[in-house]
Amino acid sequence: MLLSLTLSPLSSTPYTLQNLTPSPSSPKRHRFKFLLQTSTTKPQPQSYHKDRVLIIGAGLAGLAAATTLHSQRIPFLLLEASDAVGGRVRTDSVDGFLLDRGFQIFITAYPEAQKLLDYNALNLQKFYSGAKIYYNGQFHTVADPLRHFGDSVMSLANPIGSVLDKLLIGFTRIRVLGKSDYDIFTASEVPVVDLLRNIGFSDSIIERFFRPFFGGIFFDKELGTTSRLFDFIFKCLALGENTIPAKGIGEIPNQLAAKLPADSILLNTKVVSIDFDEPDSPNVRLENGEILKTQLGVVVAVEEPEVDKLLAGSRKPVQRKTGRNTVCLYFSAEKIPVKDPVLFLNGSGKGIVNNMFFATNVAPSYGPPGKALVSVSLIGLFPDVSDDNLTAKVIQELTGWFGESVVSSWRHLRTYRIGFAQPNQCPPTDLMKDPKSGSGVYLCGDFMTSATFDGALVSGRRAVEALLRDTSLTRI
Ligand SMILES: Cc1cc2nc3c(=O)[nH]c(=O)nc-3n(C[C@H](O)[C@H](O)[C@H](O)COP(=O)(O)OP(=O)(O)OC[C@H]3O[C@@H](n4cnc5c(N)ncnc54)[C@H](O)[C@@H]3O)c2cc1C
Repeated sequence: MLLSLTLSPLSSTPYTLQNLTPSPSSPKRHRFKFLLQTSTTKPQPQSYHKDRVLIIGAGLAGLAAATTLHSQRIPFLLLEASDAVGGRVRTDSVDGFLLDRGFQIFITAYPEAQKLLDYNALNLQKFYSGAKIYYNGQFHTVADPLRHFGDSVMSLANPIGSVLDKLLIGFTRIRVLGKSDYDIFTASEVPVVDLLRNIGFSDSIIERFFRPFFGGIFFDKELGTTSRLFDFIFKCLALGENTIPAKGIGEIPNQLAAKLPADSILLNTKVVSIDFDEPDSPNVRLENGEILKTQLGVVVAVEEPEVDKLLAGSRKPVQRKTGRNTVCLYFSAEKIPVKDPVLFLNGSGKGIVNNMFFATNVAPSYGPPGKALVSVSLIGLFPDVSDDNLTAKVIQELTGWFGESVVSSWRHLRTYRIGFAQPNQCPPTDLMKDPKSGSGVYLCGDFMTSATFDGALVSGRRAVEALLRDTSLTRI
């Protein structure tokens, strides 16, 4: 059987795939090879037989899926609705500043990331291992004793928690370091706030440190997220550094994309549905009406609510927990109060700012010479507050933190309101979901594993591994 593709406006490479007769020694194996040729076969109207795996979505999950296929020399086409790769992990350049779309930290100990990324090329810039907490009108340091011993001793007597709390942090570290990631992701689970209370942490350290810190990581002020994610992040924080790439968080997906064949990614290509007209051969319908067919399988790497839309025709509606939202505001500053690459947390229990930092203190490349970049994060979307009012509230609040003489020089650059920053991962969770979803369709994305960069990367690899197992594709 010769499956051919011609005249596709989507690809400049007229691949033809030839299915070879199965070898008698391995009757189930599906072997193939590519011939570069011009075929005379007429395409069906608005329909193209693509003999590549189709991947929908070029966020970290889709890029990891593509990377895995590429490493096996299995051809694929990555379809991305927006104008660039990265999904939720993108950076904009504005007036000489690098603005990540929301405050994002890359932890160097993420295990899958270690396998896929070239850290040296990312030129990772480190945060201070700890935080400054605004509480009762003053700043108090919480420091990692293994990295900043002096600071941590000095902080023993501060009001952020008792000496016992600080010892319990050490015990928690030992507990999580003793577990494999698999054990963590499959352990019995409770909401983070219950875990912290069960460990014996005092209300003061929960309210002043854990709530703004982990609330900011999960965009969840209630700390209702699963203890499994807490343990995973705590373990990664113990083993690695908090960083941002010198050229912005978007360098992470850019680096993955740069290693893929140039013609394998189609931007501005939105998929509107996945249909199953024929068994084992899903059709991918594009917004412009075109239908892409594949015999090799479809990897769906879009956000969870979008998965529901794409597969609406083939499965029952699913009730989902509400996703997590955040707002990130950026300011250009002439004057800032500190030079430290440190994260500031709001431990006061008042106001709308959850955390903030001076990005140019961590990575000077985030701003033009002589200017500082201020990044401020809120939890939630604040849909009823206009951008101007939100900016005014934030400026007023931070004036209380740093003083009028400092904050009056700050100029608003941009506000990002990010709906569905992460899926809701409150218990009960399944962080090891089976990627297979119907015939020839495999799901990946942060909702399949942990809602982190690493979870998204793992999920992309797992989806392709499942596809390869089912199809028994082999390289020639
Ligand atoms: C503000 C913010 C801060 C974060 N901070 C951290 C952090 O510090 N550390 C951490 O580990 N994680 C963090 N995360 C979480 C992490 O970014 C995500 O878990 C991860 O990037 C999700 O990747 P993904 O590939 O699953 O999904 P996405 O990045 O959402 O990718 C999905 C892609 O599919 C595309 N798409 C959607 N629909 C279609 C369609 N119909 N057709 C074609 N393409 C489509 C989208 O345009 C997008 O490119 C943060 C997230 C946000 C938003």
